[in-house]
Amino acid sequence: THFGFKTVNRNDKVGMVAGVFHSVAGKYDLMNDLMSGGIHRLWKRFTIELSGVRYGNSVLDIAGGTGDLAGKFSRLVGPDGRVVLADINESMLRVGREKLTNQGVAGNIEYVQANAECLPFPDNSFDCITIAFGLRNVTDKDAALRSMLRVLKPGGRLLVLEFSKPTNEVVGKVYDRYSFDILPKMGKLVANDEESYRYLAESIRMHPDQETLKGMMEEAGFAEVRYHNMTAGVVAVHRGIKP
Ligand code: SAM
Repeated sequence: THFGFKTVNRNDKVGMVAGVFHSVAGKYDLMNDLMSGGIHRLWKRFTIELSGVRYGNSVLDIAGGTGDLAGKFSRLVGPDGRVVLADINESMLRVGREKLTNQGVAGNIEYVQANAECLPFPDNSFDCITIAFGLRNVTDKDAALRSMLRVLKPGGRLLVLEFSKPTNEVVGKVYDRYSFDILPKMGKLVANDEESYRYLAESIRMHPDQETLKGMMEEAGFAEVRYHNMTAGVVAVHRGIKP
């Protein structure tokens, strides 16, 4: 299979993303820790701090995968709150549900199979929406951003945590080397799946940089859009408010 984006059409991309995440679901958490050296935990913690989620809030974690953010939100919002863990991929959802159930945090979490481009929730449903390392996999990102805006309550926040463009040339070079040479080899070694991790590197390369994503969020109708670089811009978290 060739994963070059310029040559795949929309349906191919949807099928390909599904295939990638079916095949990595069982090893996903382990690979995350290995590939980021555990740093993804810090990126997620910062995102949660920035979210301002409080007791009683309702939160949607879209592309929530194996539920790292949803688990933390579940504790923050408490029994009077609501957390929806949504993902397009049933294998990822299943692994997430099992993990959270084992951690004993499942009480206020709902699991929904959904596409970020057309969210199956009423208007003005959530105080906060997060999408972590998910937007780059979505084919129609503008549609996804509009859909998220629609289901947010006025004053609600969207947080997009995603790989971005390194702000430092040296870091950028090292990082390119790492993602194109080392990542696929690690994928092969640990998950016996080189192609999926090659796809990962390519999807990171293709994803809009900090300013472009900021512009896309503004275009979709978000207000007060700001972003914070982490790890020299390898990752950025964007936040916008529904007016
Ligand atoms: N948010 C989790 C985390 O940070 O660990 C999981 C991130 S994982 C890299 C990306 C997830 O996005 C996968 O679980 C995949 O199934 C999901 N995904 C891809 N395209 C999607 C779409 N159009 N709508 C919803 N989820 C999608």
